[in-house]
Amino acid sequence: MGRTKKVGSTGRFGTRYGATIRKRIKKIESVSKIKHQCPSCNLNKVNRVSIGIWECSFCGFRFTGGSWSPETPGGKIALRTAKRLASEPET
Ligand SMILES: [Zn+2]
Repeated sequence: MGRTKKVGSTGRFGTRYGATIRKRIKKIESVSKIKHQCPSCNLNKVNRVSIGIWECSFCGFRFTGGSWSPETPGGKIALRTAKRLASEPET
């Protein structure tokens, strides 16, 4: 007992919920638990405080981001669009 084989953190679910869902959870959990880069001091000291809230343990900078990672593909696109709209005059 206690073996997690290749399922990692999702081993606690046993054989429930299906392999695909567990793989997805594993991916999400691994990205939410690793340290992320702080946009303020650029050190990898950012921890997830709660869903969508991230805090740097070095400089205390707290910011919002994706639910499971500070940057989401959708968020990057939104940011790029916002920057473009801010820099371009309206046509
Ligand atoms: Zn920081």
